[in-house]
Amino acid sequence: LAKKTGPNTIRFYDPAVQAELEARAELERDLRLAIEREEFVLAYQMQVDSLGRPIGAEALIRWEHPTRGRISPGVFIPLAEETGLIVPIGTWVLHAACKQLVAWQTLAHTKQLVLAVNVSAKQFQQPNFVYTVANALVVSGASPYRLKLELTESTVLGKVEETIARMRQLKTLGISFAMDDFGTGYSSLQYLKRLPLDQIKIDQSFVRDLHQDSDDRAIVQTIIAMGRALGLNVIAEGVETREHWRFLNEHQCHAYQGYYFCKPVTAAEMEKQCLAPPPEMA
Ligand code: C2E
Ligand code: MG
Ligand code: MG
Ligand code: MG
Repeated sequence: LAKKTGPNTIRFYDPAVQAELEARAELERDLRLAIEREEFVLAYQMQVDSLGRPIGAEALIRWEHPTRGRISPGVFIPLAEETGLIVPIGTWVLHAACKQLVAWQTLAHTKQLVLAVNVSAKQFQQPNFVYTVANALVVSGASPYRLKLELTESTVLGKVEETIARMRQLKTLGISFAMDDFGTGYSSLQYLKRLPLDQIKIDQSFVRDLHQDSDDRAIVQTIIAMGRALGLNVIAEGVETREHWRFLNEHQCHAYQGYYFCKPVTAAEMEKQCLAPPPEMA
């Protein structure tokens, strides 16, 4: 318990709050060390077309903590964003992803895969972000046409002009863009119209209850129709069942990602999965 006194000392008398703050501080300290200790790894989750054939993958970061085991990005990414550590972590992800792309470019059955990389708002807004991406491509030798960046609505919020300008610069290099978690943030049809996007990802929260919830069915149907009408590629995430797949297919969703096809796995496992026949739809 904090017992120090003084005019600017904050005192915490609630042991639960104190414990939580200490745990957070420890996690932050470990996160700072994680890059140099090489504790991050990328998992890859396959993305498929309407026939279930592999077309790409999403890179998903995992933290192999030396004593606590695997920590999910849902836990440490928010902390990384708050502390600014997302910037070096994000750079590491870009380099690791580009390295994987180069490996895939040498294999016949993986060379057409497009790899999607998640980018945090704070990372995207760094003044040298374009340089960072270009550098990862040049250092690795990866093709920019195989790299897709996933942004979220929080990247755009209040920064529409800057975001458009930066996306244009990156698109000039050959990189494509997806809007992640579409429909969950501060969506505005105004920016959807203006941003140079290639793809929207229907958030898994709309997919999960498709069978039970007619509102979700209406939303998903509408997102697909709108995306198509705007000339965007539409991918659904969180596709867990054959019924999910069938509904989305019937409404002409372009691409699919979810446990029904493949969980996030190692690159080697995903390569093997790419050779397996697609699951049946019937
Ligand atoms: P996201 O980008 O929306 O990624 C999709 C999440 O859904 C992943 O969780 C994935 O494992 C999970 N998922 C995939 N298919 C299914 C399914 O069929 N059912 C269900 N219930 N879940 C499914 P994950 O890997 O825990 O990542 C969580 C979030 O962490 C990501 O959401 C993304 O926002 C963030 N994240 C992950 N890697 C990175 C990264 O390298 N950089 C940044 N900035 N954020 C990352
Ligand atoms: Mg994503
Ligand atoms: Mg998502
Ligand atoms: Mg998400």
